[in-house]
Amino acid sequence: DILIDIKNITKKYDNGFTALDDVSLQIKKGEIIALLGPNGAGKTTLISTICGIITPTSGSISVGGFDTLKDYRDTRKMIGLVPQELTTDAFETVFDTVSFTRGLFGKPRDKSIIEKILKDLSLWDKKDNKLRELSGGMKRRVLIAKALSHEPDILFLDEPTAGVDVELRKDMWNVMRALSKTGVTIILTTHYIEEAEEMADRIGVISKGRILLVEQTSELMRKL
Ligand code: ADP
Ligand code: ADP
Repeated sequence: DILIDIKNITKKYDNGFTALDDVSLQIKKGEIIALLGPNGAGKTTLISTICGIITPTSGSISVGGFDTLKDYRDTRKMIGLVPQELTTDAFETVFDTVSFTRGLFGKPRDKSIIEKILKDLSLWDKKDNKLRELSGGMKRRVLIAKALSHEPDILFLDEPTAGVDVELRKDMWNVMRALSKTGVTIILTTHYIEEAEEMADRIGVISKGRILLVEQTSELMRKL
């Protein structure tokens, strides 16, 4: 049951730099995939091409049967993007922020759907709080709630635990596991090996625009 099918993607930027070099990857529905690699390895470029934000120089990508480039709007609806920082109005409430984001996708702003999303993230009792009143961990949950507001099949998390303490990291891991159980396919980028090991069904190790897929990083020594 392949949800994302990436075939031989190469991305050469206008300045001649090859950020992705013949990358292929198939992701099944419900999988958790970690993209592991140092800064500059090509993780953001790969995610941006899957979302249809960047046009690959060659190769093709389909998401849920849609061609990401030809069917950009259909693809985009299937994807929720979790950025690293909250950029929303700090004086908005949790509920309104998530409801407003859903509206941006042209979806009816039914209270019951927002309620389910907030409950899945244990944010329901914070629904009337303003974003500025929340702890760092709760703010990160709001970022995820916004990304889920249009009920996507796939969630991308960009370094979800960069620069956070151990407790918050474990909390984010629990949040991702709980979401995975609801059937969402999760793709996260990280430079922490232990995060990739802990969270992912499969790990895509990215280096210099190339990808190597493993189930555990211990396999790397055999494959390299
Ligand atoms: P695309 O091919 O997807 O349209 P471009 O190659 O046109 O992307 O990139 C747009 C511009 O941004 C280019 O001029 C590029 O040099 C510059 N740019 C953006 N980020 C970087 C980066 N990290 N390193 C080098 N150049 C960058
Ligand atoms: P990561 O997310 O793993 O840090 P990126 O995908 O952001 O890696 O970048 C991969 C490489 O491509 C880096 O060397 C970066 O400088 C380069 N790069 C990113 N965007 C552009 C651009 N628009 N033009 C030229 N080079 C770019």
